[in-house]
Amino acid sequence: MNIKERIERSKQLILAISKIGRDKTTIPSLKDLFPFKHYFDNKGNLKRDELNEIDGLWTRREILTRYLLVSAVLDQGPDLEGVRRLLKDVVNSLYEKEIRIFHKPIDFFKELGISIDEILEKHASIKNIRADYWAKENESNPNKYNLFTDRTNQVLGYAVYRWGVPLCVPHLLEKDLKRNCKESTEPLVEYIESWDSSETMSQQIKDNERYGLGKAIGDKAGHLFAKFYIHTYRIGKRKDEAFGPLSYELPFDSNAGRVLFRTGFLLDCAKLSDYEKWEVVQKGKGKGGKHYIRVTNIRGKKSDELSSLKEVMDSYEPICIKYLKVRIRRPSKIEIQQIPNTLLLDTKYGIGDLDDGLINIGTKYCFNHNNPNCKECPIKEFCLAYKKQKGLIKNYRT
Ligand code: SF4
Repeated sequence: MNIKERIERSKQLILAISKIGRDKTTIPSLKDLFPFKHYFDNKGNLKRDELNEIDGLWTRREILTRYLLVSAVLDQGPDLEGVRRLLKDVVNSLYEKEIRIFHKPIDFFKELGISIDEILEKHASIKNIRADYWAKENESNPNKYNLFTDRTNQVLGYAVYRWGVPLCVPHLLEKDLKRNCKESTEPLVEYIESWDSSETMSQQIKDNERYGLGKAIGDKAGHLFAKFYIHTYRIGKRKDEAFGPLSYELPFDSNAGRVLFRTGFLLDCAKLSDYEKWEVVQKGKGKGGKHYIRVTNIRGKKSDELSSLKEVMDSYEPICIKYLKVRIRRPSKIEIQQIPNTLLLDTKYGIGDLDDGLINIGTKYCFNHNNPNCKECPIKEFCLAYKKQKGLIKNYRT
């Protein structure tokens, strides 16, 4: 296949995955979370027209945004269903005890002993329920089940770092407003919408000198937060292109990376030897001596081959300048992580649809071992590993 045929194949693949995301994904309802019960109707739909209603000192939009930030930070690890359950159970339990961490974040610290006890207790009960199932699915040992980020056993570090740091952002914003004799019912919302684009916002959520979460949040989680805010719950106020469906990069995690590698998308963007040079592919460093794919290392890497195609760069230019707002002039080379935005330009899909589709395929079919469920996989006709190169499954792990 020549380069033009490969880019067309990649576009069809990205559209097929996005369609699956659009058709198969339901918005996770938060109505089972105690603080948000009244934000949703009986069918579990968010009452969007009531987002400006005041709940305590803040709007509902603000309270939800605070929750989504914590949720994006925590939403990683080997068992996402377990992580989401942990978040829900701990939040409900704390609110039952009047520790209203999204309404008054400082209470998480004031009652740190209770916060920690709740995390420990809920983690133990989720482990009891899910460890065996998780171990079977992942060909692992149930004793290894651990939802604390970085798989540590130290609850204090996990609680303060992964829960506490994102809770401190609205707290600090509120303090700074007071110090400057200003008032707002949406300090976090105003802060995140003050950036040029949701891409810039997702970077600043991590890197800002005063309010950035630093290492408590990864690049993927920053983009996931943008996805939650713009695509999943659609609670943002800004409606311009820079806060629209193509305004942030795909949250690149191991799940997305595995599907994009096996299907051949990543190999359409650059050569295997490039990925080895960038340490995206680390030879022999995966489980059982397989080659390990570290997708986070793709960040900032450019595709020489695709950059030579005028039609690709013609689409990439507005993506950079109008949507992501990361450039003011036409770039000379395309970043691999921004190729999905470029291929989705002028289609009815956005990055959120694509990510939902990747989650669907990665968790239901494309398991991280030698036997993914290719026969049932809805994108098998597009998949390089399934059709031609079984080695992409057998020899690599994410
Ligand atoms: S066909 Fe198989 S290898 Fe390809 S994406 Fe589907 S499950 Fe993964």
